[in-house]
Amino acid sequence: MMANTAYPRVPEGDFMKYAGLAFAVVVVASLFPQTGLASPPTGKPGVKKESFGTLPDGTPVDLYTMTNVHGMEIRVTNYGGIVVSLRVPDKKGNLDDIALGFDDLKGYLANTPYFGSIIGRYGNRIANGKFTLDGKEYTLARNNGPNSIHGGLKGFNKVVWQAEPFEGPAGVGIILTYTSKDGEEGYPGNLKTKVAYTLTDKNEWIIDYEAVTDKATPVNLTEHTYFNLAGEGKGDVLGHILQLNASRFTPVDQNLIPTGELRPVKGTPLDFTQPTAIGVRIDADNEQLRLGRGYDHNFVIDRKGSDPVLVARVKEPASGRILEVYTTEPGLQLYTGNFLDGTITGKQGHVYKQRYGFCMETQHFPDSPNHPDFPTTILRPGQTYHSRTIYKLSAD
Ligand code: BGC
Repeated sequence: MMANTAYPRVPEGDFMKYAGLAFAVVVVASLFPQTGLASPPTGKPGVKKESFGTLPDGTPVDLYTMTNVHGMEIRVTNYGGIVVSLRVPDKKGNLDDIALGFDDLKGYLANTPYFGSIIGRYGNRIANGKFTLDGKEYTLARNNGPNSIHGGLKGFNKVVWQAEPFEGPAGVGIILTYTSKDGEEGYPGNLKTKVAYTLTDKNEWIIDYEAVTDKATPVNLTEHTYFNLAGEGKGDVLGHILQLNASRFTPVDQNLIPTGELRPVKGTPLDFTQPTAIGVRIDADNEQLRLGRGYDHNFVIDRKGSDPVLVARVKEPASGRILEVYTTEPGLQLYTGNFLDGTITGKQGHVYKQRYGFCMETQHFPDSPNHPDFPTTILRPGQTYHSRTIYKLSAD
Protein backbone atom coordinates (compact mmCIF):
# COMPACT_ATOMS: atom_id res chain seq x y z
CA MET A 1 0.00 0.00 0.00
CA MET A 2 2.82 2.40 0.81
CA ALA A 3 4.92 1.39 -2.18
CA ASN A 4 6.65 4.40 -3.63
CA THR A 5 5.14 5.71 -6.82
CA ALA A 6 7.55 7.41 -9.16
CA TYR A 7 6.55 10.76 -10.60
CA PRO A 8 8.24 12.83 -13.24
CA ARG A 9 10.15 15.84 -11.92
CA VAL A 10 8.73 19.30 -12.22
CA PRO A 11 9.78 20.53 -15.65
CA GLU A 12 12.71 22.96 -15.65
CA GLY A 13 12.48 26.29 -17.40
CA ASP A 14 9.92 29.03 -17.47
CA PHE A 15 7.19 28.12 -15.03
CA MET A 16 4.66 30.21 -16.91
CA LYS A 17 5.07 28.07 -20.01
CA TYR A 18 2.61 25.64 -18.67
CA ALA A 19 2.62 23.10 -21.45
CA GLY A 20 5.46 21.24 -19.74
CA LEU A 21 3.64 20.91 -16.46
CA ALA A 22 0.37 19.99 -18.16
CA PHE A 23 2.20 17.15 -19.88
CA ALA A 24 3.72 16.09 -16.57
CA VAL A 25 0.29 16.08 -14.97
CA VAL A 26 -1.02 13.77 -17.72
CA VAL A 27 1.84 11.38 -17.04
CA VAL A 28 1.28 11.63 -13.27
CA ALA A 29 -2.42 11.02 -13.67
CA SER A 30 -1.84 7.96 -15.82
CA LEU A 31 0.13 6.33 -13.00
CA PHE A 32 -2.88 6.17 -10.72
CA PRO A 33 -5.40 3.34 -10.74
CA GLN A 34 -8.94 4.27 -11.74
CA THR A 35 -10.43 3.48 -8.34
CA GLY A 36 -11.89 5.57 -5.58
CA LEU A 37 -13.66 8.29 -7.58
CA ALA A 38 -17.11 7.77 -6.19
CA SER A 39 -19.02 10.54 -7.93
CA PRO A 40 -20.22 10.37 -11.53
CA PRO A 41 -18.92 13.04 -13.91
CA THR A 42 -20.78 16.29 -13.33
CA GLY A 43 -19.46 18.63 -15.92
CA LYS A 44 -16.63 20.46 -17.59
CA PRO A 45 -13.57 21.34 -15.53
CA GLY A 46 -12.87 25.04 -15.21
CA VAL A 47 -11.71 28.01 -13.15
CA LYS A 48 -14.02 30.84 -12.14
CA LYS A 49 -12.85 34.18 -10.75
CA GLU A 50 -14.85 36.46 -8.46
CA SER A 51 -14.18 39.16 -5.90
CA PHE A 52 -13.37 38.06 -2.34
CA GLY A 53 -13.48 41.61 -0.96
CA THR A 54 -10.82 44.17 -0.13
CA LEU A 55 -8.06 44.50 2.44
CA PRO A 56 -8.28 47.35 4.98
CA ASP A 57 -5.98 49.43 2.70
CA GLY A 58 -8.39 48.98 -0.21
CA THR A 59 -6.42 46.32 -2.12
CA PRO A 60 -8.88 44.07 -3.96
CA VAL A 61 -8.63 40.34 -3.34
CA ASP A 62 -10.04 37.61 -5.58
CA LEU A 63 -11.41 34.13 -5.16
CA TYR A 64 -10.77 31.41 -7.75
CA THR A 65 -12.95 28.31 -7.92
CA MET A 66 -11.45 25.31 -9.70
CA THR A 67 -13.71 22.40 -10.53
CA ASN A 68 -13.03 19.00 -12.11
CA VAL A 69 -15.27 16.45 -13.82
CA HIS A 70 -16.10 14.73 -10.52
CA GLY A 71 -17.36 17.94 -8.98
CA MET A 72 -14.31 18.20 -6.74
CA GLU A 73 -13.80 21.87 -6.08
CA ILE A 74 -10.90 23.91 -4.69
CA ARG A 75 -11.49 27.56 -3.84
CA VAL A 76 -8.36 29.69 -3.46
CA THR A 77 -7.89 33.36 -2.67
CA ASN A 78 -4.83 35.25 -3.82
CA TYR A 79 -4.59 36.66 -0.25
CA GLY A 80 -1.98 34.31 1.23
CA GLY A 81 -2.71 31.74 -1.49
CA ILE A 82 -5.22 30.44 1.02
CA VAL A 83 -7.25 27.37 0.13
CA VAL A 84 -10.60 28.56 1.39
CA SER A 85 -12.45 25.32 0.75
CA LEU A 86 -11.86 21.85 -0.59
CA ARG A 87 -15.05 20.02 -1.54
CA VAL A 88 -14.54 16.33 -2.28
CA PRO A 89 -16.85 13.31 -2.68
CA ASP A 90 -17.30 10.68 0.02
CA LYS A 91 -17.87 6.99 -0.79
CA LYS A 92 -21.49 7.72 -1.76
CA GLY A 93 -20.52 10.66 -3.93
CA ASN A 94 -21.64 13.31 -1.44
CA LEU A 95 -19.50 16.43 -1.46
CA ASP A 96 -18.24 17.91 1.80
CA ASP A 97 -15.79 20.70 2.52
CA ILE A 98 -12.83 19.01 4.21
CA ALA A 99 -10.77 22.17 4.95
CA LEU A 100 -11.10 24.27 8.10
CA GLY A 101 -11.43 27.98 7.44
CA PHE A 102 -13.77 30.94 7.29
CA ASP A 103 -16.75 31.99 5.20
CA ASP A 104 -15.25 35.31 4.20
CA LEU A 105 -12.04 37.35 3.91
CA LYS A 106 -12.68 39.04 7.26
CA GLY A 107 -12.14 35.73 9.02
CA TYR A 108 -8.75 35.26 7.40
CA LEU A 109 -7.67 38.82 8.22
CA ALA A 110 -8.29 38.25 11.91
CA ASN A 111 -6.01 35.97 13.84
CA THR A 112 -5.97 32.64 12.01
CA PRO A 113 -3.65 29.70 12.73
CA TYR A 114 -2.56 29.70 9.07
CA PHE A 115 -5.73 27.94 7.83
CA GLY A 116 -5.09 26.86 4.21
CA SER A 117 -2.16 29.25 3.67
CA ILE A 118 1.01 29.16 1.66
CA ILE A 119 3.86 29.28 4.18
CA GLY A 120 7.12 31.12 3.40
CA ARG A 121 9.88 31.94 3.34
CA TYR A 122 10.40 29.29 5.95
CA GLY A 123 7.93 26.64 7.04
CA ASN A 124 8.07 25.97 10.79
CA ARG A 125 10.51 27.36 13.35
CA ILE A 126 13.93 28.95 13.22
CA ALA A 127 15.40 28.94 16.74
CA ASN A 128 15.69 32.36 18.38
CA GLY A 129 14.94 33.92 14.98
CA LYS A 130 18.62 33.76 14.08
CA PHE A 131 20.93 31.98 11.67
CA THR A 132 24.39 32.53 10.23
CA LEU A 133 24.94 32.21 6.51
CA ASP A 134 28.31 32.65 4.77
CA GLY A 135 29.70 34.16 7.97
CA LYS A 136 26.95 36.75 8.42
CA GLU A 137 24.35 36.58 11.19
CA TYR A 138 20.74 37.36 10.25
CA THR A 139 17.98 38.23 12.71
CA LEU A 140 14.42 37.41 11.71
CA ALA A 141 11.06 38.69 12.90
CA ARG A 142 10.18 36.67 16.02
CA ASN A 143 6.55 35.65 16.27
CA ASN A 144 6.60 32.45 18.34
CA GLY A 145 8.13 33.05 21.76
CA PRO A 146 11.85 33.33 21.05
CA ASN A 147 11.45 31.79 17.59
CA SER A 148 10.49 32.84 14.12
CA ILE A 149 7.74 30.65 12.68
CA HIS A 150 6.23 30.33 9.21
CA GLY A 151 8.07 33.30 7.71
CA GLY A 152 7.64 35.83 10.53
CA LEU A 153 5.12 38.54 11.34
CA LYS A 154 4.01 39.03 7.76
CA GLY A 155 4.75 35.76 6.04
CA PHE A 156 3.61 34.61 2.61
CA ASN A 157 0.25 33.80 4.21
CA LYS A 158 -0.48 37.52 4.63
CA VAL A 159 0.56 38.95 1.27
CA VAL A 160 -1.45 39.43 -1.90
CA TRP A 161 -0.19 37.21 -4.71
CA GLN A 162 -0.54 37.88 -8.45
CA ALA A 163 -2.84 35.21 -9.81
CA GLU A 164 -3.12 33.67 -13.27
CA PRO A 165 -5.75 30.98 -13.83
CA PHE A 166 -5.16 28.28 -16.45
CA GLU A 167 -7.12 25.45 -18.01
CA GLY A 168 -5.44 22.55 -19.82
CA PRO A 169 -6.17 19.00 -20.90
CA ALA A 170 -4.66 17.54 -17.72
CA GLY A 171 -5.99 19.93 -15.14
CA VAL A 172 -7.17 23.38 -14.23
CA GLY A 173 -5.58 25.72 -11.78
CA ILE A 174 -3.96 28.92 -10.80
CA ILE A 175 -0.39 30.21 -10.80
CA LEU A 176 0.42 32.52 -7.91
CA THR A 177 3.50 34.75 -7.96
CA TYR A 178 5.03 36.95 -5.29
CA THR A 179 8.39 38.68 -4.94
CA SER A 180 9.62 38.93 -1.38
CA LYS A 181 11.95 41.90 -1.02
CA ASP A 182 15.54 41.80 0.23
CA GLY A 183 15.34 42.12 4.02
CA GLU A 184 11.65 41.22 4.30
CA GLU A 185 11.06 39.72 7.77
CA GLY A 186 14.87 39.71 8.10
CA TYR A 187 15.60 37.35 5.20
CA PRO A 188 18.30 38.22 2.66
CA GLY A 189 17.75 38.57 -1.10
CA ASN A 190 14.88 39.36 -3.41
CA LEU A 191 13.05 36.05 -3.67
CA LYS A 192 10.80 35.52 -6.71
CA THR A 193 8.29 32.85 -5.80
CA LYS A 194 5.76 30.95 -7.90
CA VAL A 195 3.24 28.49 -6.57
CA ALA A 196 0.96 26.57 -8.94
CA TYR A 197 -2.15 24.78 -7.74
CA THR A 198 -3.49 22.21 -10.22
CA LEU A 199 -6.72 20.24 -9.85
CA THR A 200 -6.76 17.12 -12.01
CA ASP A 201 -9.60 14.83 -13.01
CA LYS A 202 -8.02 12.16 -10.77
CA ASN A 203 -9.02 14.25 -7.75
CA GLU A 204 -5.45 15.36 -7.19
CA TRP A 205 -4.52 18.76 -5.86
CA ILE A 206 -0.95 19.29 -7.11
CA ILE A 207 1.23 22.05 -5.68
CA ASP A 208 4.38 23.10 -7.53
CA TYR A 209 6.66 25.56 -5.81
CA GLU A 210 9.47 27.44 -7.53
CA ALA A 211 11.76 30.24 -6.36
CA VAL A 212 14.88 32.13 -7.41
CA THR A 213 16.93 34.62 -5.43
CA ASP A 214 19.63 37.24 -5.93
CA LYS A 215 21.33 36.56 -2.56
CA ALA A 216 21.75 33.30 -0.65
CA THR A 217 18.70 32.73 1.60
CA PRO A 218 16.92 29.91 3.38
CA VAL A 219 13.73 28.79 1.59
CA ASN A 220 11.27 26.20 2.85
CA LEU A 221 7.82 26.57 1.34
CA THR A 222 4.80 24.57 2.40
CA GLU A 223 1.00 24.59 2.65
CA HIS A 224 -1.02 24.72 5.85
CA THR A 225 -4.47 23.29 5.14
CA TYR A 226 -6.18 21.77 8.20
CA PHE A 227 -7.99 18.68 6.93
CA ASN A 228 -10.93 16.90 8.46
CA LEU A 229 -11.95 14.14 6.06
CA ALA A 230 -15.39 13.81 7.69
CA GLY A 231 -16.03 17.46 6.81
CA GLU A 232 -14.86 20.63 8.55
CA GLY A 233 -16.53 21.29 11.88
CA LYS A 234 -17.68 17.67 12.22
CA GLY A 235 -15.68 16.79 15.31
CA ASP A 236 -12.10 15.79 15.95
CA VAL A 237 -9.78 13.79 13.72
CA LEU A 238 -8.79 11.20 16.33
CA GLY A 239 -10.61 8.38 14.51
CA HIS A 240 -8.83 9.01 11.21
CA ILE A 241 -6.55 6.09 10.31
CA LEU A 242 -3.04 7.25 9.45
CA GLN A 243 -0.10 5.55 7.81
CA LEU A 244 3.24 7.32 7.36
CA ASN A 245 6.17 6.23 5.24
CA ALA A 246 8.60 7.45 7.89
CA SER A 247 10.75 5.37 10.20
CA ARG A 248 12.40 8.37 11.90
CA PHE A 249 11.41 11.80 13.19
CA THR A 250 13.20 14.89 14.46
CA PRO A 251 12.56 15.13 18.24
CA VAL A 252 12.08 18.62 19.64
CA ASP A 253 12.96 20.59 22.77
CA GLN A 254 10.59 22.64 24.94
CA ASN A 255 10.47 25.39 22.26
CA LEU A 256 9.56 22.81 19.60
CA ILE A 257 13.00 23.21 18.02
CA PRO A 258 14.65 20.02 16.71
CA THR A 259 17.43 18.73 18.94
CA GLY A 260 19.30 17.59 15.82
CA GLU A 261 18.70 13.90 16.40
CA LEU A 262 16.97 11.68 13.82
CA ARG A 263 15.21 9.27 16.17
CA PRO A 264 13.60 5.96 15.11
CA VAL A 265 9.81 5.92 15.59
CA LYS A 266 9.91 2.20 16.42
CA GLY A 267 8.53 1.50 19.87
CA THR A 268 7.13 5.05 20.25
CA PRO A 269 3.63 6.53 19.78
CA LEU A 270 5.05 8.24 16.68
CA ASP A 271 5.22 4.94 14.83
CA PHE A 272 2.63 5.15 12.04
CA THR A 273 4.40 2.76 9.71
CA GLN A 274 1.28 0.56 10.07
CA PRO A 275 -2.22 2.08 9.70
CA THR A 276 -3.21 3.40 13.17
CA ALA A 277 -5.91 5.75 14.41
CA ILE A 278 -4.48 9.20 15.14
CA GLY A 279 -6.09 9.25 18.58
CA VAL A 280 -5.05 5.86 19.93
CA ARG A 281 -1.76 7.01 21.47
CA ILE A 282 -1.97 10.81 21.17
CA ASP A 283 -2.17 11.30 24.94
CA ALA A 284 0.32 8.55 25.79
CA ASP A 285 2.90 9.12 28.51
CA ASN A 286 5.61 10.31 26.15
CA GLU A 287 7.86 13.34 26.47
CA GLN A 288 7.61 14.28 22.77
CA LEU A 289 3.81 14.17 22.83
CA ARG A 290 3.77 16.27 25.99
CA LEU A 291 6.00 18.89 24.33
CA GLY A 292 3.80 19.01 21.23
CA ARG A 293 0.52 18.61 23.16
CA GLY A 294 -0.02 15.79 20.70
CA TYR A 295 1.55 15.28 17.29
CA ASP A 296 3.46 18.34 16.12
CA HIS A 297 6.53 16.68 14.68
CA ASN A 298 8.62 16.55 11.57
CA PHE A 299 8.84 13.03 10.17
CA VAL A 300 11.84 12.00 8.09
CA ILE A 301 10.40 10.49 4.94
CA ASP A 302 11.80 7.11 3.91
CA ARG A 303 12.92 7.81 0.39
CA LYS A 304 15.62 7.45 -2.20
CA GLY A 305 16.21 10.14 -4.81
CA SER A 306 14.14 13.24 -5.30
CA ASP A 307 11.05 12.09 -7.20
CA PRO A 308 7.73 12.39 -5.35
CA VAL A 309 6.97 9.43 -3.09
CA LEU A 310 3.87 8.44 -1.20
CA VAL A 311 4.51 9.61 2.36
CA ALA A 312 1.11 9.56 4.02
CA ARG A 313 -2.27 7.91 3.69
CA VAL A 314 -5.18 8.92 5.90
CA LYS A 315 -8.65 7.37 5.88
CA GLU A 316 -11.77 8.55 7.66
CA PRO A 317 -13.78 5.35 8.14
CA ALA A 318 -17.36 6.72 8.12
CA SER A 319 -17.15 8.82 4.95
CA GLY A 320 -14.60 6.49 3.38
CA ARG A 321 -12.57 9.51 2.30
CA ILE A 322 -8.86 8.88 1.78
CA LEU A 323 -6.10 11.45 1.52
CA GLU A 324 -2.75 10.42 0.09
CA VAL A 325 0.22 12.76 0.19
CA TYR A 326 3.11 12.51 -2.27
CA THR A 327 6.09 14.84 -2.14
CA THR A 328 9.60 15.59 -3.32
CA GLU A 329 10.43 16.94 0.17
CA PRO A 330 12.51 15.11 2.80
CA GLY A 331 10.12 15.88 5.68
CA LEU A 332 6.48 16.05 6.69
CA GLN A 333 5.17 18.00 9.68
CA LEU A 334 2.22 16.16 11.16
CA TYR A 335 0.31 18.71 13.22
CA THR A 336 -2.91 17.51 14.82
CA GLY A 337 -4.42 20.91 15.61
CA ASN A 338 -3.32 20.70 19.24
CA PHE A 339 -3.36 24.45 19.69
CA LEU A 340 -6.95 24.82 18.46
CA ASP A 341 -8.89 25.52 21.65
CA GLY A 342 -12.44 26.41 20.68
CA THR A 343 -11.77 30.16 20.49
CA ILE A 344 -12.03 30.20 16.70
CA THR A 345 -15.45 30.12 15.09
CA GLY A 346 -15.04 29.12 11.47
CA LYS A 347 -17.33 28.33 8.55
CA GLN A 348 -21.06 28.32 9.21
CA GLY A 349 -20.58 29.01 12.90
CA HIS A 350 -18.53 25.86 13.46
CA VAL A 351 -16.37 26.09 16.57
CA TYR A 352 -12.95 24.54 15.99
CA LYS A 353 -11.84 22.70 19.09
CA GLN A 354 -8.59 20.93 19.87
CA ARG A 355 -7.68 18.34 17.21
CA TYR A 356 -10.57 19.22 14.90
CA GLY A 357 -8.13 19.19 11.95
CA PHE A 358 -4.74 17.88 10.96
CA CYS A 359 -2.02 19.40 8.78
CA MET A 360 0.39 17.53 6.53
CA GLU A 361 3.07 20.10 5.85
CA THR A 362 5.60 18.75 3.39
CA GLN A 363 8.89 20.49 4.03
CA HIS A 364 12.58 20.51 4.78
CA PHE A 365 13.24 20.04 8.48
CA PRO A 366 12.48 22.85 10.95
CA ASP A 367 15.43 25.05 11.94
CA SER A 368 17.64 23.61 9.18
CA PRO A 369 19.68 26.84 8.84
CA ASN A 370 21.00 26.08 12.36
CA HIS A 371 21.55 22.36 11.70
CA PRO A 372 24.32 21.82 9.13
CA ASP A 373 23.63 18.06 9.25
CA PHE A 374 20.04 18.47 7.98
CA PRO A 375 19.34 18.63 4.22
CA THR A 376 20.16 22.19 3.23
CA THR A 377 17.47 24.84 2.77
CA ILE A 378 19.85 27.45 1.37
CA LEU A 379 19.00 28.71 -2.11
CA ARG A 380 21.76 30.57 -3.92
CA PRO A 381 21.71 32.93 -6.90
CA GLY A 382 21.68 30.92 -10.13
CA GLN A 383 19.84 28.01 -8.52
CA THR A 384 16.11 27.32 -8.81
CA TYR A 385 14.10 25.97 -5.88
CA HIS A 386 11.66 23.26 -7.02
CA SER A 387 9.28 21.35 -4.83
CA ARG A 388 6.16 19.32 -5.62
CA THR A 389 3.44 17.96 -3.35
CA ILE A 390 0.34 16.06 -4.42
CA TYR A 391 -2.71 15.69 -2.20
CA LYS A 392 -4.78 12.92 -3.78
CA LEU A 393 -8.37 12.39 -2.62
CA SER A 394 -10.43 9.25 -3.10
CA ALA A 395 -13.07 7.27 -1.19
CA ASP A 396 -14.03 3.64 -0.65
C1 BGC B 1 3.37 24.03 13.79
C2 BGC B 1 2.61 24.18 15.08
C3 BGC B 1 1.88 25.48 15.04
C4 BGC B 1 0.98 25.51 13.83
C5 BGC B 1 0.26 26.81 13.69
C6 BGC B 1 2.41 24.06 12.66
O1 BGC B 1 3.10 23.98 11.46
O2 BGC B 1 4.14 22.86 13.75
O3 BGC B 1 3.47 24.12 16.19
O4 BGC B 1 1.14 25.66 16.21
O5 BGC B 1 1.73 25.30 12.69
O6 BGC B 1 1.14 27.86 13.74
